[in-house]
Amino acid sequence: MNNKPKIVILGAGYGGMMTASRLQKSNAHQDADITLVNKHNYHYQTTWLHEPAAGTMHHDKTRMKIDSVIDTKKIHFIKDSVVEIKKEEKKIILEDGELDYDYLVIGLGSEPETFGIPGVTEHAFSIRSVNSVRLIREHIEYMFASYNKQDEKHEDVLTFVIAGAGFTGIEFVGELSERIPELCEEYDIAREKVKIYSVEAAPSALPGFDEELVEYAMNLLESRGVEFKINTPIKEVQEGRVLLADGEEIKSQTIVWTTGIRGSSILEKSGFETMRGRVKVEKDLRAPGFDDTFIIGDCALIINEEINRPYPPTAQIAIQQAYTLSNNLKALIAGKTELEEFKPDIKGTVASLGGKEAIGLVGERKLYGNSASAVKKLIDNRYLFLLGGMPLVLKKGKLNLF
Ligand SMILES: Cc1cc2nc3c(=O)[nH]c(=O)nc-3n(C[C@H](O)[C@H](O)[C@H](O)COP(=O)(O)OP(=O)(O)OC[C@H]3O[C@@H](n4cnc5c(N)ncnc54)[C@H](O)[C@@H]3O)c2cc1C
Repeated sequence: MNNKPKIVILGAGYGGMMTASRLQKSNAHQDADITLVNKHNYHYQTTWLHEPAAGTMHHDKTRMKIDSVIDTKKIHFIKDSVVEIKKEEKKIILEDGELDYDYLVIGLGSEPETFGIPGVTEHAFSIRSVNSVRLIREHIEYMFASYNKQDEKHEDVLTFVIAGAGFTGIEFVGELSERIPELCEEYDIAREKVKIYSVEAAPSALPGFDEELVEYAMNLLESRGVEFKINTPIKEVQEGRVLLADGEEIKSQTIVWTTGIRGSSILEKSGFETMRGRVKVEKDLRAPGFDDTFIIGDCALIINEEINRPYPPTAQIAIQQAYTLSNNLKALIAGKTELEEFKPDIKGTVASLGGKEAIGLVGERKLYGNSASAVKKLIDNRYLFLLGGMPLVLKKGKLNLF
């Protein structure tokens, strides 16, 4: 009879995957029965998804088989979807079975935030998973192919609306504006026929980011033909059109929704108290009132006490949380009761703008263009290195820095 405590990790994203990897590296499987559950048999890098969405990178580059990184003899892997967490019974309901646990890690990531705007779920695309971005890329190509077949040309087929000019929206617009000239060439369509709108409700693109860097990004993207509509809330999305609060209507067959995220709906469904779908966790990353349950990544809300506002959900934080969490799990299975507090160490933020362009703030230093783009690739490679060492960097990394 196996008396080892059971640790179940839900979600193999940045948080879950790194927690599993850290536990494996420290041989925690010798003292605990560890299971990782994910809806796919691969891990993908959410932070890269704007690239395959626009078609500037193949989606296979963003993903890797879980068993190529995690030793599934040490950490059990179950490919299944989580349906509900019965926290009082310490039980997980999967689509295809059930699991019980002594310690639970929830790292199920996020879902698009629609703010209740009608029509978004039905008529807009989202950048969320390998499957969702493959659909966007194929749809974009289909739009170019079908334009050529139309006797009477419909401009909405070549009009692309990106709702939200935060980090994800701007990164996608950057890639798309790089990809469009290639598609125009391939499908023999004049560049002027294609319209890209970046629509943002806040008074600025990249709200809260350094003004000079925002200006650099907007100028660059405008020079590639992107039209910004800032301070312009969207009232409704209908099939083939976006209705703006100022009364304007943009006809478009491709509306991509990037106005922010909320935590996985599994949390609300499972009765956790949430704010925009995220659980405000204790300092040691436990769910309030549940000493056996840890929540990390986009599912967790942590407050930046300097400004008394939540930290934006990032991979950077999810990865750092995985380090603290794996230490805490090891402490618990060793019978200790004192746990580490999670303290984010924000190293900076870099946003890619497509091609060899990016902007970033690293420490106090502002980065632009080529050097920012190289730093962004180094950040991406660093994660691969932490997860799977040099072999993974060589296999999946962005080696062409400049
Ligand atoms: C285009 C884009 C660019 C970004 N750029 C940056 C950046 O430059 N820097 C940065 O720090 N952050 C960036 N982010 C944010 C970052 O990607 C997220 O904060 C990060 O992925 C959160 O990690 P996570 O582990 O919580 O979730 P994720 O990495 O999203 O992983 C969640 C996992 O859970 C699985 N899952 C979900 N639901 C279920 C279910 N019901 N059952 C089983 N499995 C399930 C998913 O398949 C996935 O594997 C970006 C995000 C996007 C979309």
